[in-house]
Amino acid sequence: MKVLLCGGAGYIGTHVALAFLEGGHKVGIFDDFSSGLRENVQAGTTLYEGSILDEKALEATLSDRWDVVVHLAAFKAAGESMTNPSKYAHNNITGSLNMIRLCERHSIKKFILSSSAAVYGEPVYLPIDENHPLKPMNYYGYTKQVIEDNLRWFHSLAGMNYVSLRYFNAAGYDRDGRMKGLERNPANLIPVVMEAALGKRERLDIFGDDYPTADGTGIRDYVHVTDLADAHVKGAEYLMENDSSLTVNLGSEEGLSVKEILDEARKVSGIDIPYRIVGRREGDPAKLVASSTLARQRLEWTARHSSLEELIETTWKAYKG
Ligand code: UDP
Repeated sequence: MKVLLCGGAGYIGTHVALAFLEGGHKVGIFDDFSSGLRENVQAGTTLYEGSILDEKALEATLSDRWDVVVHLAAFKAAGESMTNPSKYAHNNITGSLNMIRLCERHSIKKFILSSSAAVYGEPVYLPIDENHPLKPMNYYGYTKQVIEDNLRWFHSLAGMNYVSLRYFNAAGYDRDGRMKGLERNPANLIPVVMEAALGKRERLDIFGDDYPTADGTGIRDYVHVTDLADAHVKGAEYLMENDSSLTVNLGSEEGLSVKEILDEARKVSGIDIPYRIVGRREGDPAKLVASSTLARQRLEWTARHSSLEELIETTWKAYKG
């Protein structure tokens, strides 16, 4: 099939491109390089440079007859979305509506969205399945909810079929080292731990050790980016074979604490990574763990590379260079 990856030069998009290329598909990358990196545009893909906010550029690219469009072109820093909501409203909401509208105009009826567990907010029960109430606690999560809502409307009003993939904590790197450029200014735990190991930052700040968890630090469901990438290919196959839409969680269904991540990173790197305990970060729930039963049932997807060891080893390999 012929697939356009909007945001295909970013951290997740690059891995998604690799997965589609491995499946023998034709891959186009549409990216404005605001956070994506040119060195991550994979050989064998066709590059279309542009922003989802630039209707002309987007329209010119979308007119190129795509079977499936994948939307990975969003900003994703939850903390920043609370201090700069305009940036997120503009890119994530306006940009996504541009994509949905222009796909409709060009009769592209198969759409895959990078969504997020941030749509759920503070968990009411665990593990979180797709029926869990949606009550995002940050503006970033709200932008994803708005895009999902619009996809649902365009599904019923314009026959647009979509697969919305609600990622839990994306982590890890391609184990064959094909992703060359690292994320700039990462804010997520594992890259921050790596930067602290390499002396790129003074230390890791652990946001609270007084949560009601075994070691007091926050627990998350980390899912390897190679597993996430595989789900996009399965989502695209689903859209090619079914005249329907689907929203699924993507997680490993295992909870790992901040301290477990730090300890494994110390073990793998052999470095006594400096850290200190600071106050809780606003909006951080104690524990988030996915149920991915639906993805297993409907996409035959399961996380195969998301063990603690593989998450940390592949990230360390990428950072160590
Ligand atoms: N965390 C931390 N220090 C950091 C970054 C994150 O202690 O510098 C913790 C955070 O409180 C949460 C977990 O690590 O419990 C994962 O945070 P991240 O920002 O990676 O993802 P989130 O779960 O917020 O989407």
